[in-house]
Amino acid sequence: VAGLPVPTELPPPALSFEFFPPRTEALEQQLWTCVRRLEPLAPRFVSVTYGAGGTTQERTHATVARLVRETSLTPAAHLTCVGASRGEVDDVARRYWADGVRHIVALRGDAPAGEAGYVPHPDGYAYAADLVAGLRKVGDFEISVAAYPETHPTASSAQHDLDNLKRKIDAGATRAITQYFFDTEVFLRFLDRCLAAGITVPIVPGILPVSNFNQVRKFSAMCGASVPGWMGKLFEGLDDDPDTRRMVAAALAAEQVRLLQANGVDEFHFYTLNRADLTYAIAHILGARPKVAAAL
Ligand code: FAD
Repeated sequence: VAGLPVPTELPPPALSFEFFPPRTEALEQQLWTCVRRLEPLAPRFVSVTYGAGGTTQERTHATVARLVRETSLTPAAHLTCVGASRGEVDDVARRYWADGVRHIVALRGDAPAGEAGYVPHPDGYAYAADLVAGLRKVGDFEISVAAYPETHPTASSAQHDLDNLKRKIDAGATRAITQYFFDTEVFLRFLDRCLAAGITVPIVPGILPVSNFNQVRKFSAMCGASVPGWMGKLFEGLDDDPDTRRMVAAALAAEQVRLLQANGVDEFHFYTLNRADLTYAIAHILGARPKVAAAL
């Protein structure tokens, strides 16, 4: 019977970890405990999200700046163009450049909660592809962009969405990071479609270890990631049992990443939600081992 490969037979993959900027002192502690735990795995980069509509601009900057100052990690700053003029966005990017940050995750962002739909700022970058082109003029950044194996929820068609991804790459992005997904075949088919469209930069799967299934189900409905029925079955009856939920989550994500690895995927981006344990365990299963001592 053809099974998954013995884990140690495959070379360890390249990893990246995503954090969000903390809002409170307690969350700050949680983030830095997470950073300290994951740092020895020597990820290719770690990224810090930018709150909807740029609401975390200062906190994102402070977190990224601290990563530069106090760790051996290479940070990437998420930057969105919603609700800001080109000049304002360029200023944020220039500040990152001056701080030694050389990697931006360039995004459009979404309309603020309560507003009907996305409307570009009159003097702003309208879409992520425009932002990528603008960033190219600010500095020689490494630029990652978002990709959607199940199509962005407001795209007029899957083909338009793929064309849009191609535009972002043609504008100068060097990597795409995907929205999370749970159906591995969906991702592998998406890779084939990207290749057929002439997209040759790495398409890195975004992996979300599911520690809170109900929350993920709600969020997935908004961001267009489908949640297969069998996942509901797996988490059935565990609403009040977080310990078992986490074990199930680890098993589930380990299966997903091993299947991807067996199909030639050698780079993974983890949505850590500022908690290290699941990400660390899954990275370990993929073959990652501590390389450097935490600098903190
Ligand atoms: P775009 O690539 O600009 O595409 C947005 C939509 O517009 C798509 O449907 C596209 O097909 C369509 N489109 C593009 N160009 C045109 C055009 N010229 N005419 C008509 N339609 C067009 N959000 C945050 O607020 N902060 C974050 O830190 C953040 N990080 C993320 C990280 C990743 C890896 C991912 C996958 C998403 C992230 N998001 C974040 C969410 C993201 O901002 C939303 O998904 C947003 O709705 C789209 O952003 P985009 O960069 O993909 O937009």
